Amino acid sequence: MGLQNGFTTPPGDPSAFAPSSRRAFLGRAAGVGAGIVGVAAAATLVGTSAATAASQGAQAVQEKWRYCQKCSSLFYWGYPSHGVCPSGGAHSAEGYNFVLPYGVGETSTAQADWRYCQKCYSMFFWGYPDKGYCAAGGAHSAQGYTFVLPHDVPGTATRQRDWRYCQRCRVMFFWGYPDKGYCALGGAHSAQGYNFVLPHV
Ligand SMILES: [Zn+2]
Ligand SMILES: [Zn+2]
Ligand SMILES: [Zn+2]
Repeated sequence: MGLQNGFTTPPGDPSAFAPSSRRAFLGRAAGVGAGIVGVAAAATLVGTSAATAASQGAQAVQEKWRYCQKCSSLFYWGYPSHGVCPSGGAHSAEGYNFVLPYGVGETSTAQADWRYCQKCYSMFFWGYPDKGYCAAGGAHSAQGYTFVLPHDVPGTATRQRDWRYCQRCRVMFFWGYPDKGYCALGGAHSAQGYNFVLPHV
């Protein structure tokens, strides 16, 4: 399991890369005057290179989304408490700090209707009438932003592939390990649909 989450950081000083990347991003975000034209142009570039992470500059993003090493789901790590993990207790973060776009339109390579569950803290797909199965009991309960997550584009040093939708509990989970995690319905998560490619720092 060792080479995926969090252990593929390029050699050298990671801090030399991430902050400059972020400055480039913020610079573009500040110049959003291009408006809809800028969004469309960025969308066409999403798959081309690591540098185009900055080309998504018309998008607002939220950081502190993490991989849970216990259940393999994507959860929000930015609060003092870390939600409810289907494997018991709270989620436990490992690896990358994912930085996820929200509040923009869906494209052919980015799916909207991904939401934060205020009960279990996982990222879940809200686009069906049925809101899935929450580790805290009942269905997931959305709060906050509507995330628009890239899929089926190449992975890069700052974008990790193999995040998938679980058709059983509806959360986003990391599918790249042989072990498919721990689903709130019991057993492992079961992937369906797109291969999501999540930006991280
Ligand atoms: Zn967990
Ligand atoms: Zn939930
Ligand atoms: Zn599941």
